[in-house]
Amino acid sequence: MQKSLFVLPDSEITVCMQKSIKEGVPVLTLNQVTRRYGHTTAIDALDFVVPDDTYISLLGASGSGKTTLLRLIAGFEEPDAGTILLDEHHLDGRPPHQRGIGFVFQNFALFPHLTVEQNVAYGLKYRQTGAVSDPKEIRDRTATALSLVGLDGLGHRGVAEISGGQRQRVALARTLVTEPRIVLLDEPLGALDANLRGRMCDELRAIRERLKVSFLHVTGSETEALTMGDKVAVLSQGKIIQSASARTLFERPANAAAARHLNAWNLLSGKVEQDMLKTPAGTVPMPSALRDGVSAQIAIRFDQIDVSPLSEVPAGQHHISARYLTGEFNGPTALSFFRTADGTLLQVVEHFSDARLPSLIEGQTYALHYEPNAALVFEGAAQ
Ligand code: ADP
Ligand code: MG
Repeated sequence: MQKSLFVLPDSEITVCMQKSIKEGVPVLTLNQVTRRYGHTTAIDALDFVVPDDTYISLLGASGSGKTTLLRLIAGFEEPDAGTILLDEHHLDGRPPHQRGIGFVFQNFALFPHLTVEQNVAYGLKYRQTGAVSDPKEIRDRTATALSLVGLDGLGHRGVAEISGGQRQRVALARTLVTEPRIVLLDEPLGALDANLRGRMCDELRAIRERLKVSFLHVTGSETEALTMGDKVAVLSQGKIIQSASARTLFERPANAAAARHLNAWNLLSGKVEQDMLKTPAGTVPMPSALRDGVSAQIAIRFDQIDVSPLSEVPAGQHHISARYLTGEFNGPTALSFFRTADGTLLQVVEHFSDARLPSLIEGQTYALHYEPNAALVFEGAAQ
């Protein structure tokens, strides 16, 4: 019989898991997976690979297909087309409890009339395959899972008598007790207040590092996705449009849609004319030349725009004229909003350690400019 991971000391867990990790082999592979609901294509010929032993975040707006994707992987739904493989084995048609996949639901989905301990033990006792009946083993494995998520000693409480953050941990313990190969988390921090969210972020990462299984964490928050993920994938209209390290994604989004998801880039679209991009907000310089007449979008990061009074712009310096609307103070940074004559909204971020903006007067028009090489240009019209 396989020995439980949770009763091994740390050092043995590491050794035991390392043996099962095959270098470079993905734990989960989705090929051309499609899921339709009537006329809505929720997941559209999606390709996606989750490497072993990795924290992956999946960033997508509401309605982009995040929950559908997790439900397909877990087996609560079947794809209309495409295949899903776990460790190179086809999962198609296999019921959820036989997939070796853990699912932490968005609303935790705990049994309200059971205690913390009973909630965690439930998954072990009532599995159709591999059900555990030995009371001592159930007790030991439940206690180890609770300890792993920092809930020692709370097993006898009712789930109504604990905080939101503790309920979140119970939901995680209930999944981990079954020793899944991969854990799917559907917006796991959404129901927590900001303080707790920060703490749970650190703890989720620490728990995953101990277990050495992959976590796939979906969220609509770009800061959460960038903080959590060793790798961040962006889901848009049922497709993965980029998958990269947080830093690469933030600094070099591969397309305009990915840039839009990061909430850190201004996007202007227009047509190329003599090495410049002619947009409704103004004619602006580009980092690289494109053929005249081509449609393109330029992306300029919020923290890479400089602002000058119109009277101080050097002759010949290209700039965008925009009216200062208002500012938002966020502690170490300030966000300023501007609007051009055609109605385009532009955002500028200033870090106080590197203050570069003049003092701004609401309603006044300023010159906004940037170093062309710091901008990104994407060929193609805005969608
Ligand atoms: P997210 O979790 O990113 O908010 P969902 O996966 O819940 O997105 O939904 C993706 C799309 O599929 C949405 O347009 C949603 O309305 C649709 N959808 C999801 N589940 C169903 C369902 N059971 N029946 C019909 N449409 C659905
Ligand atoms: Mg959802």
